[in-house]
Amino acid sequence: IAGEAKAGISSSAGRRERLGEVDCFELSSSSVLKLQKGDITSWFVDGKTDAIVNAANEKMLGGGGVDGAIHRAAGPELKTACYEVPEVQPGVRCPTGEARITRAFKLPVSRVIHTVGPIYGLVDKPDVLLRNAYINSLKLAKENNIHYIAFPAISCGVYRYPFDEASKIAISAIKEFPSDFKEVHFVLFSDDTYRAWLEAALEFM
Ligand code: ADP
Repeated sequence: IAGEAKAGISSSAGRRERLGEVDCFELSSSSVLKLQKGDITSWFVDGKTDAIVNAANEKMLGGGGVDGAIHRAAGPELKTACYEVPEVQPGVRCPTGEARITRAFKLPVSRVIHTVGPIYGLVDKPDVLLRNAYINSLKLAKENNIHYIAFPAISCGVYRYPFDEASKIAISAIKEFPSDFKEVHFVLFSDDTYRAWLEAALEFM
């Protein structure tokens, strides 16, 4: 999925357009939200100012789902880089709702932003923590001059966040963030998450 491959939104043509397999929504006159199905490990746009977001856990040393896929694709250096992120408490490198950045090694993007979503049903106010995970990822990306960023459906796997709620939180966080990203993508692995994200985008954008 080269992010740019099917791109080219016409800003005068209304707020939504479907280009090939990518749904595009205007965030501002210079910023676009794109939704697509796929594997986030093969996503990139320009290799210099792009980043993917990892749905990590607090230890940041790898796991299943998208985290495992990102570590496999990046190679073992990613685990070493994560290991070097200082612990803020024993065994915790990234508390839930926060974000950390590393290099991306064998991945086609320049950086990986690791964030930790809430485990649904285990914490109070999972909506606040999920929103924080998106907002803190965007802030860290902005501080690091990232212009293109792609998110997976944070917390929607083993952390069991309901897709329809998670998608609304995700889309509204992106919409409300004062964005100077050129493109913000969601790369959604399953039909269910893709459909939920499309519905939320049609509702909120
Ligand atoms: P969490 O622990 O935050 O729930 P998971 O990795 O279990 O994280 O799941 C988060 C979402 O990522 C799920 O919707 C899952 O289907 C999706 N996912 C798994 N592998 C990939 C991948 N390679 N690219 C994009 N999304 C993926």
